[in-house]
Amino acid sequence: MSHHQTKATESVTAYCNRCGKRTQHAVSDGRQGRCTEHEAPDLTKRQIEKRLRRQREAENPRLF
Ligand SMILES: [Zn+2]
Repeated sequence: MSHHQTKATESVTAYCNRCGKRTQHAVSDGRQGRCTEHEAPDLTKRQIEKRLRRQREAENPRLF
């Protein structure tokens, strides 16, 4: 076994070329699927805004 994923894993952190960063990737039957952080159908606008705001807060902690 060269990988550590198990069938119980639903998502895994991996580098996404499209996002240019490490993101969550869906896992199906132990195989890494597509990145869930771009064009993710289950991600609502509100969730995206929340994530962006958290990202900005982390980059500019003095503003908040
Ligand atoms: Zn991505």
